[in-house]
Amino acid sequence: MDELYLETPGQLRLRESARIEKLGAEEVRIKVIYGGICGSDVKVYGGHLPYANYPCRPGHEILGTVVETGENSPFTTGTRVISFPNTYCGNCEFCQQGKTNICSEKKIFGVTANGLFGQEIVVDSEFLVPVPAELPNEKAILTEPFAVIVHALKKTNISKKTSAAVVGCGTEGFLTIALLDHMGAEVTAIDINQDKMDKAKSAYNSIGTLHPDQMKNPLFDLVIEAAGTKGAIEMAFTLAKPGGTLITLGLTDAEVSFPALRVTRAELSILGSIIYTKQDFYEAFEILKNPAFNISPILSEIVSLTQYEKAFADALTGNYTKIVMDFQNHG
Ligand SMILES: [Zn+2]
Ligand SMILES: [Zn+2]
Repeated sequence: MDELYLETPGQLRLRESARIEKLGAEEVRIKVIYGGICGSDVKVYGGHLPYANYPCRPGHEILGTVVETGENSPFTTGTRVISFPNTYCGNCEFCQQGKTNICSEKKIFGVTANGLFGQEIVVDSEFLVPVPAELPNEKAILTEPFAVIVHALKKTNISKKTSAAVVGCGTEGFLTIALLDHMGAEVTAIDINQDKMDKAKSAYNSIGTLHPDQMKNPLFDLVIEAAGTKGAIEMAFTLAKPGGTLITLGLTDAEVSFPALRVTRAELSILGSIIYTKQDFYEAFEILKNPAFNISPILSEIVSLTQYEKAFADALTGNYTKIVMDFQNHG
């Protein structure tokens, strides 16, 4: 069985993994089916996430099948599961409030803890969620990145009258467009890459698109920042209407300045949003099961695990949405 291994930034290779023979009571062994490359994996690969640890096995977005269970695991063999991207302690003040996403002890798979991009991995049952039988693998693998959006959009009220701008048309931006459009909001996609906006427009024909260079002070009830660059975040502050809401999803370690006077005088609500809780996963499943929910443009390509170099190189270009590696196709 093989696994990906990131020695230092840029030094990624496929190697034989050391088998863990004896499972802990709560652990399960998983045969990985698919692994999705996340923006954070690309940042760790490139050395752009200051809190990442090296060397490490990268990855957190996996779909797999349980093949062996520890004595106290609630799972049975044959169950398809997806993983949380991080662990949580269950005891800190945030976990006690159900906010496991901001646990003070959390370890992130593939960033601060060994990740999940192996053909066979061992994970604690607590951090796994069973996948409903109706969801095909190609939709199930999108649950984790989609739960980010389910979590974020629950922070505000959205109706058919809501005008919403989505800044950044990467995977999370596309998933935001998909869910807002599904909810009936008036969506405008904003990106510096015209091709991506054209792709969004052809998949969701009721949406509008705007290139930052062509904007004449448009204002929206809701702005979702999903680009994670200094320029995009600073622009996002200018797009919210008085009384409007800005939700930030992008991850950047850059210092960003914001118009404090406008935030106060226009009474803007600025909300950060990070990942999700298990409840968001269950809600994500329900939406993904709905055939009317259009996620056609989200999955860009599926490549075999041995093509991991191409997969990461493609992800680095920023021209793709979700790139998935097939861990079973090893030829
Ligand atoms: Zn992710
Ligand atoms: Zn905790």
